[in-house]
Amino acid sequence: MTTATRYDVVVIGAGIVGSAIARELAGHQLSVALLEARDDVGDGTSKANTAILHTGFDAKPGTLESALVSRGYHLLSEYATHTGIPIEHTGAILVAWDQEQLDALPSLIDKAEANGYHRCQLIDAEAVYTQLPQLGPGALGGMTVPDESIICTWTVNLALATDAVNRGVTLLTSHRIDRVDAGGDATTLHTSRGPVTARWVVNAAGLGADLIDAMFGYCRFTVTPRRGELIVYDKLARALIDKIVLPVPTSRGKGVLVSPTIYGNVMLGPTSEDLQDRTDTATSEAGFEFLLDKGRKLMPKLLEEEVTATYSGLRAAIDHNDYLIETDAAQRYLLVGGIRSTGLTSGMAVAEYVRDQLAAAGLALVPRTDLPAPPRMPNIGEAFPRPYQRSDMIADDPAYGRIVCFCERVTEGEVRDACRSVVPPAALDGLRRRTRVMNGRCQAFFCGAEVQALLEREVGAPQPVSAAPAAAVTSQEAHR
Ligand SMILES: Cc1cc2nc3c(=O)[nH]c(=O)nc-3n(C[C@H](O)[C@H](O)[C@H](O)COP(=O)(O)OP(=O)(O)OC[C@H]3O[C@@H](n4cnc5c(N)ncnc54)[C@H](O)[C@@H]3O)c2cc1C
Repeated sequence: MTTATRYDVVVIGAGIVGSAIARELAGHQLSVALLEARDDVGDGTSKANTAILHTGFDAKPGTLESALVSRGYHLLSEYATHTGIPIEHTGAILVAWDQEQLDALPSLIDKAEANGYHRCQLIDAEAVYTQLPQLGPGALGGMTVPDESIICTWTVNLALATDAVNRGVTLLTSHRIDRVDAGGDATTLHTSRGPVTARWVVNAAGLGADLIDAMFGYCRFTVTPRRGELIVYDKLARALIDKIVLPVPTSRGKGVLVSPTIYGNVMLGPTSEDLQDRTDTATSEAGFEFLLDKGRKLMPKLLEEEVTATYSGLRAAIDHNDYLIETDAAQRYLLVGGIRSTGLTSGMAVAEYVRDQLAAAGLALVPRTDLPAPPRMPNIGEAFPRPYQRSDMIADDPAYGRIVCFCERVTEGEVRDACRSVVPPAALDGLRRRTRVMNGRCQAFFCGAEVQALLEREVGAPQPVSAAPAAAVTSQEAHR
């Protein structure tokens, strides 16, 4: 059991948003803990999205979401270059398939301008097909969004959490919060691993944010899990497309897109379906058929390629039309709710906003002058050389020349490094997200046993979550 430890701030939820907030606050003279119910960071919505770094061209102007997506785009683009997060500025083309959609394009340009994004341009059908020769027949015109980009969502989450831990944040995984005692000069969070006490609490629990909010006495919103299913096509499909193909957005969301992925595949999706079960990330036959139907029109040749995998993620949709970020100064509590379908992009800007809200509510923020440099993350994207391609790395350490996963060309050296990293994986799934191992077309058929053995050699046999020791990674442990 964790002994009750008192922190200046506890952030609940180690997804992209919570990790970004913990990192931001740890830039000040504060003791900060990051609490996560699961046994790893980035294991919730942040691990299963479409991985597009949005410019925010299509956000609702004047909303908090619009401001934070636009700011987040710039913050994350810059952070990615400092940390080596895989990113490719591919650009996007929004395609109109009927007259109504074509007529809507000028208003989307106006919307982009109102959102502070000034680089969209209308193009005719001929220009659409020049840039997207494999697009299905019937496109009437389009709009370019030159700065939409693809990024590795796994590395984003991991970089932010690693940076936070390097800055001194105590990461407490396998700590599910079940009850809250607020009041007095500190709040006690009763977790599955014992109590944790904090002067201030930030709720960034994603799909669970309304449940935590209720523990603070509120009844102001409800999260509805909105499932998005996606299909990942084989790497041979990558030659078909080098830009993101977007539909004209509707009130229900951004719609089904086709996009290259940072790992050299092509993805089709996502669907949009409201569920009751906040844990239902299964894929469905109906979702698959729906996507195939869309894909047949968008890019018929894509359907001739092989499917490598399907997956789904749950958006934390709420009954408000904007992000819901509110401070309760009396309880020293801040809610971050409704970060629905743009939180990968906006996370770092949400963190800045939260910092300013906390300061306005009375949290003393004294910037630190002794911050460590941001971490340099392993490259798992295809745009830059990977270890198996680098003779300098292999000469220094032959483990980078020993391939373990042949589909994704992951080496033993990378698996070892991930296991010994500041925020190591708790199980095979976490290792996949850190290295790409077992993610290829054989889906671990060939390499699964060897990877499991490597993981066991490095971190011991993964335990069931309920029996696992409480994981607390601090900056001291980080440099073992
Ligand atoms: C299909 C789909 C496509 C998307 N595409 C994009 C995109 O292209 N670009 C983009 O910018 N965004 C996209 N998003 C949105 C983006 O993924 C999310 O907004 C973002 O990941 C939310 O991060 P988060 O940290 O708020 O939530 P999460 O990653 O879910 O983190 C919340 C954490 O809180 C923890 N938690 C919950 N309850 C408790 C508790 N009681 N105690 C302790 N911990 C708790 C959870 O375990 C979880 O790890 C997409 C989302 C989906 C589903």
